[in-house]
Amino acid sequence: FIMSDTDTRDPTSLRTPIVAVLGHVDHGKTSLLDKIRGSAVIEGEAGAITQHIGATAVPLDVVSSIAGELVNPDDFDLPGLLFIDTPGHHSFTTLRSRGGALADIAILVVDVNDGFQPQTLEALDILKRSQTPFIVAANKIDTVPGWNPNEDTPITATYESQSDRVTGRLDESLYQIIGNLSDEGFSADLYWRVQNFQRNVGVVPVSAMTGEGVPDLLAVMMGLSQRYMKEEMEIDVAGPGVGTVLEVKDEKGFGTTVDMVLYDGTIKADDQIVVGGQNDPLVTDVRALLQPRPLAEIRTESRFEKVDEVGAAAGIKVAAPDLDDAMAGAPVRVVRNRALEEVVTEVEAELADIAVDTAEQGVVVKADTLGSLEAMADALEEAEVPIVRAEVGDIAPRDVSVASTADEPKQRAILGFNVDVLGDASGRAEIDDVTIFSDEVIYQLIEEYEEYVEGIERAQQDTILENITRPARFRILPDHTFRQNDPAVVGVELYAGTLQNNNTVVKFEGNDPDRVGQVKGIQDQGEDVDEARAGDRVSVAIDGPTVGRQIEEDDVLWAEIPEKHAKILEQELTSEIPGDELEALNMYLEKQRKRDPFWGK
Ligand code: GDP
Repeated sequence: FIMSDTDTRDPTSLRTPIVAVLGHVDHGKTSLLDKIRGSAVIEGEAGAITQHIGATAVPLDVVSSIAGELVNPDDFDLPGLLFIDTPGHHSFTTLRSRGGALADIAILVVDVNDGFQPQTLEALDILKRSQTPFIVAANKIDTVPGWNPNEDTPITATYESQSDRVTGRLDESLYQIIGNLSDEGFSADLYWRVQNFQRNVGVVPVSAMTGEGVPDLLAVMMGLSQRYMKEEMEIDVAGPGVGTVLEVKDEKGFGTTVDMVLYDGTIKADDQIVVGGQNDPLVTDVRALLQPRPLAEIRTESRFEKVDEVGAAAGIKVAAPDLDDAMAGAPVRVVRNRALEEVVTEVEAELADIAVDTAEQGVVVKADTLGSLEAMADALEEAEVPIVRAEVGDIAPRDVSVASTADEPKQRAILGFNVDVLGDASGRAEIDDVTIFSDEVIYQLIEEYEEYVEGIERAQQDTILENITRPARFRILPDHTFRQNDPAVVGVELYAGTLQNNNTVVKFEGNDPDRVGQVKGIQDQGEDVDEARAGDRVSVAIDGPTVGRQIEEDDVLWAEIPEKHAKILEQELTSEIPGDELEALNMYLEKQRKRDPFWGK
């Protein structure tokens, strides 16, 4: 609400609950908000709906006129609902107020035909983590084949006027959604069957196109807020304002401005404020508080009109000097009659709470808001990916410079969530051999990065394996001496491992390895080959020994593994080599370590 100077209300009053609308792209978030706004206009209550910056306030009497008999205004003392209304653009779910989610309550929109999609899951994940109560709007019911629309009616009325075949189809889609919610750990049911909305998620079938079910949706939101959130809505209206930055924007004639949602107290046009910045908190004086001009007056000089004062809950644009470093998701606090330092400390504490731990080496992370940055950091920590720098903002050339200093190829990467890649950054990345990942779903972003890392590691291990001596254990077959010496040529059977041309051959006397010669050729059924595998019977030319002296038929021989290679094999490559080779390696290490316990460590 916008207060006048003569406001005489009780200083503690109930504020409007803040509602976020989320869901997968194209599932109908914008249409649903448009429908609610439009219905209010049709009901002749247009004047009562106020367009805020980044939000729409729907007062109780408008909710009641849209919802009809489902909402009796006498049953409520909350003033209405404030919908954050630029969905899709920002990850509102990740915006926070003091320690919690910015939205008091959420609507998760799911297309009944399309069902659960990646952003649906992502939204659910964030709702779960922030413990935000929500309901599910199962949208686009009018697209069920054979649907007979009844504009703007409650769901029960329109449901009853459909044929059995049509309701059967709708039920199937709805139960699919309820099943999906259950898979994600939420017990859900059609909203009219839900007794306790704290324990169960209510599913409301709606059409943003025809308005069917919209009365129910508003009634459930209003009822939920009144029942479970009333205490949290009690605020000191006259107190110093507290809010969260939605967006930082350049505005012609005003310079850098912040769009914010105020969730406590008031902000006045002459207040000093503290805003969370990229580095230190920003301290500045409000120059103007701006609201969108009502539609009828939009042709006048500015899209905005100045107001003297705004009380929570509201969306407002703040014009003030020195806001360039402000961040979406950062806290905003009015100073008014308090020590500035105290307020700065409060803002610092809130920022520290969201701070991301960084390491000496790691990837660069960019996100659209502080909250989404935090969500990214949590997910990366779970995936054990270190972060060297984490910032709110688009991917810029200087991020490429930071990423390009990484020692490890897999860390020459930038992960951007819901941000743009600025023009010069992609070119720079190509030159500097930095890979940019960008996605609008956190877990997909991390999956893409993990696949990339796996690819790099596989390639690295392949090169290592190519340059390393592999374990091999083999036996000279009886009656298979084809040549005594220079070189000795014998038939062998490989017990385990991979014997390669040029391997040095050793024979253990007890635990002492004796070098007996070097492989100078391998033949498999008369064909020259480079290597033989476990189970193969091949003939091998060994330069050095004489059969009957250094080596005998039936002797068990080994490929010599240099100590350094043995160490790499044991420490890094055990999962890359076949089981028989690993077995040969372990036997080889055991023999060596009986002699020298630290061999290959
Ligand atoms: P958003 O990306 O979630 O904001 O989705 P939009 O509101 O932009 O809707 C995506 C598309 O679905 C648009 O073409 C809408 O007209 C359409 N749409 C949204 N809700 C409904 C609905 O209830 N019924 C039908 N038939 N179409 C819808």
